[in-house]
Amino acid sequence: MNKFSIAVHGGAGTILKSNITQEQEAAYLYALDEALHTGYSLLEKGGTALDAITAAVVSLENCILFNAGRGSVFTKTGTHEMDAAIMNGATMQAGAVAGVSKIKNPVELALKIMQESEHVLLSGDGALLFAKEKGLQIEEDAYFFSQFRYDQWQQVKNENLVALDHNISISADAKAMADEKKFGTVGAVACDMFGNLAAATSTGGMTNKNYNRIGDTPIIGAGTYANNNTCAISCTGHGELFIKAVAAYDVSCLMEYKGLTLQQAMETVTLDKLVKINGEGGMIGVDANANLAMIFNSEGMYRGMQSSNGQKEVAIYS
Ligand code: ASP
Repeated sequence: MNKFSIAVHGGAGTILKSNITQEQEAAYLYALDEALHTGYSLLEKGGTALDAITAAVVSLENCILFNAGRGSVFTKTGTHEMDAAIMNGATMQAGAVAGVSKIKNPVELALKIMQESEHVLLSGDGALLFAKEKGLQIEEDAYFFSQFRYDQWQQVKNENLVALDHNISISADAKAMADEKKFGTVGAVACDMFGNLAAATSTGGMTNKNYNRIGDTPIIGAGTYANNNTCAISCTGHGELFIKAVAAYDVSCLMEYKGLTLQQAMETVTLDKLVKINGEGGMIGVDANANLAMIFNSEGMYRGMQSSNGQKEVAIYS
């Protein structure tokens, strides 16, 4: 039996201890730990990396604290538009969904698109129709409503800003909000005991984003990527910059063509290349030997990892 491991994230950004109460911190750590446990226990039983990351991301999508699924932020027109992607490193199959509403678990829709359609990326109404055909759970808008997100949206909207989620402090003034960028996307990567890799990412995008704006999350190679020969990567951060950097695939390329280790490749992309273009955020990654890395260039990243070698960590700040 080979080593196996999993990592999860719940977004990166200007996450400062002073902006968060002890109760909030405990709630975030609990939710991350729960997602980690959900995925890890599947791997322990011989489950696949694909099943483990799907289950971990579903757990985070169902938690109102994170900007994905139930806790998704509001767009400029007061709706919720979600993006998600999944990739199987063993087969190089990928599935993704962009700008969908009403889908309880967008990562499950991405999985269905990967497994049961001839396409990679579906968007909007067509994606919703496909989800209904496949019997996925649909929710009314009320399910995605939270007063906290609504208040964030009202404040950002009044200031005419587009905010990069999840820590817009409702007491902060507009300047502080503009400076304070946080990203609440969720994601998971895993290596199972057979050496197979998989990655998934899911997000509500940015508060007050233009309707039909699509970020890096559902763009294969930008926010999500998996290849058994190199790594599985899930990103969080300023999507436009991660798209331009082709961030997740760049990590894979540095490993494949330059022989860098996972840690070296992720550091190069996150701490050098993205920084040079002001691409704030971070990523989690795993290689086929189950080595894990969680790298970010922001103040913090909600994150957790667990490996069959006994390593376990759940953390927020740097
Ligand atoms: N990357 C996401 C996007 O730009 C945001 C995030 O990571 O929170 O849509």
